[in-house]
Amino acid sequence: MLDRGVILNELKQYLKDIGVRFSENEPMNRHTTFKTGGNADLMVFPNGKQQLSSVLSFCGAEGILPFILGNGSNLLVSDDGIRVPVISVSEGFDELRLLDETTVYAGAGTALIKLCKFALEHSLSGLEFAYGIPGSVGGAVFMNAGAYGGEMRDVVDRAEHLTFDGRPGALNSDSLHFGYRHSAYKEQNCVITGAVFRLRKEDPEKIKAKMQELLQRRKDKQPLEYPSAGSVFKRPEGYYAGALIEQSGLKGKRIGGAAVSERHAGFIVNLGGATTSDVLALIEICTSPVCQAPESPAL
Ligand SMILES: Cc1cc2nc3c(=O)[nH]c(=O)nc-3n(C[C@H](O)[C@H](O)[C@H](O)COP(=O)(O)OP(=O)(O)OC[C@H]3O[C@@H](n4cnc5c(N)ncnc54)[C@H](O)[C@@H]3O)c2cc1C
Repeated sequence: MLDRGVILNELKQYLKDIGVRFSENEPMNRHTTFKTGGNADLMVFPNGKQQLSSVLSFCGAEGILPFILGNGSNLLVSDDGIRVPVISVSEGFDELRLLDETTVYAGAGTALIKLCKFALEHSLSGLEFAYGIPGSVGGAVFMNAGAYGGEMRDVVDRAEHLTFDGRPGALNSDSLHFGYRHSAYKEQNCVITGAVFRLRKEDPEKIKAKMQELLQRRKDKQPLEYPSAGSVFKRPEGYYAGALIEQSGLKGKRIGGAAVSERHAGFIVNLGGATTSDVLALIEICTSPVCQAPESPAL
């Protein structure tokens, strides 16, 4: 069996041969909203489905499982970096078009905020909840991103993908098995390439007002002035993670450059120079038994 270095060199040569852009020793803190993480040995930037399919076919044949990067807004990358190839789904995956009056196709690399604005321009309602979530369409479908009572499940009709060995496929809303911050893609080796959204006609003034209201709620409650990955913890049933952490007296707790946010205890923020180890140490403290749920539910 060839060793990892040899396979990576072969992959780099292949990328050069077929004209796919890549970079080596790419600092992951440039690609994560937490602004932490070591270097990725190799980051690949396919310019569309054809290049992506070729890269995946190569990886499949060599038994390489790549890591898929969206906008990096839900990622905590090890300080030691990433050894497997990282495939960035961004450039070349930002197509946005109307399929009919109320149906929109968005490439996986499209920023959610851009998709929301496109929906507003076409007087289409359904995506207001997503205005302000700093992810890509692919990342949002992958984890069924949601906020303020809405989630991807409510609007995604179908998602398209390439398997990790380069074969095209699609999942409809039933087979996406959306759950709380979960989709079927979490159990499958696939790259989401785009999604179809089923929306409804609405007065654009109403859509805009809702988006602005929800964005304001974020600005009021969330520490958006610091790098973070949003809420770190899933909601324990019957409770809010932020409230539990606050009740445990951990608001403001600091390790290195990372701290439990003073403004929203469910957020860990990078106050400057934080490492992923700092963040992990805080997560460990917040989830340790002394910080378990009190007797009476907070809800
Ligand atoms: C300030 C702030 C506020 C936030 N608020 C919310 C919120 O209200 N609700 C919420 O749900 N989230 C929130 N988040 C978290 C984050 O924005 C969402 O989870 C978003 O959906 C992640 O998308 P991404 O493109 O950044 O994915 P990434 O962080 O790049 O990746 C996340 C996961 O998705 C996988 N992935 C990404 N793209 C693809 C693809 N094309 N194909 C296959 N797998 C893929 C990655 O491999 C990884 O496992 C917030 C984050 C921040 C920083």
